[in-house]
Amino acid sequence: MLAHPTTGVSEVLKRFENAKFTCEYKYDGERAQIHLKEDGSIHIYSRNSEDNTTKYPDIIKRLQNSVGEDVKSCVIDSEAVAWDKEKEQILPFQILSTRKRKDAVESEIKVQVCVFPFDLLYLNGEALVREPLEKRRELLRKNFKEVEGEFVFAKSMDSTNTEDIQEFLEESIKGNCEGLMVKSLDIDATYEIAKRSHNWLKLKKDYLDGCGDTLDVVVMGGFSGKGKRAGQYGGFLLGCYDTENEEFQTICKIGTGFTDENLAQHAEFLKKHVIEKPKSYYSFDKSVEPDQWFEPVQVWEIKCADLSVSPVHKAGAGIVDPEKGISLRFPRFLRIRDDKKPEEATSAQQVAEMYNNQDQIKNKQKDDKAVNEEDFY
Ligand code: ATP
Repeated sequence: MLAHPTTGVSEVLKRFENAKFTCEYKYDGERAQIHLKEDGSIHIYSRNSEDNTTKYPDIIKRLQNSVGEDVKSCVIDSEAVAWDKEKEQILPFQILSTRKRKDAVESEIKVQVCVFPFDLLYLNGEALVREPLEKRRELLRKNFKEVEGEFVFAKSMDSTNTEDIQEFLEESIKGNCEGLMVKSLDIDATYEIAKRSHNWLKLKKDYLDGCGDTLDVVVMGGFSGKGKRAGQYGGFLLGCYDTENEEFQTICKIGTGFTDENLAQHAEFLKKHVIEKPKSYYSFDKSVEPDQWFEPVQVWEIKCADLSVSPVHKAGAGIVDPEKGISLRFPRFLRIRDDKKPEEATSAQQVAEMYNNQDQIKNKQKDDKAVNEEDFY
């Protein structure tokens, strides 16, 4: 099975609207379909069904450490990835490609590999390709054991929240992966052998970088950081400026695009501008209330994948929808705009224009207009 390339986040979300899906890391190695037969023999095949068995004597030898007691035969779909044992991290594909292609001798292997299984197509005499992915994945996890640095289930996340997806995508890139595979968990999302299927979409980092608008927004509040970001802010609440009502209206939360230095710098500066309670001219929904509110003192340039009507954010409320505002999807921090005053941030009216100028929305408006005109005549 192969993935359908996407032009961006919005296509992914549109495709999976109202549907269950999972995101998995897209590992940058080589497809390794591992066949274990009842007689104990093991074969490994590439994406094009070439026999790679003699390339991977190390995978074959170690497989027994991961196969559960009840498994007599199976076909595992996985990605074999070059692995740095010392640093415990994934190495680029280029390193994997230096491995001997055929008749490798285990003792001479220099480039170690870790196998990341993501699917199970056959188990104990039964084909699973007609089963939904959720079931196949469950059987995979139940019948096989992880071994650190050798056999590790593809990292996955089932949330449909756009911010979670963004974060997971960033995480995958930091972990030396290519991006994400987004896979349908629908009942009818069966395995389509050797086909390019819409049940699998790939989301790569460059799609995010390549597209999108930039906006200048005001930092309205901060969310306390966890883990590595403890003691600083892990995310921020941003807003645009509504020149008509003279208020700052929330437009999104942001947690990505920051370097460690950026975060330290923001914490140092913004902590000096914390206020007890939000300004009367801050328009926000209770559900996005930050841990700390700030004076409107700084403008940031950010980039986003697209704009959508939001049940919680307030930007341009009443302009494109009678009540709802607009929010940004997949916002990323670019830089501080010291040359702009908060009141010079992107205005609510501009945000509404940007929303309406999106191709998707323009096309819809065209369709609606055509229908209305048809009705008229
Ligand atoms: P293209 O076909 O456009 O050259 P590609 O080689 O990356 O791109 P895709 O169909 O886009 O192929 O992606 C499927 C490939 O991604 C699989 O063959 C597999 O080798 C690899 N892969 C890595 N991680 C995963 C994963 N979690 N799920 C499925 N495939 C994965």
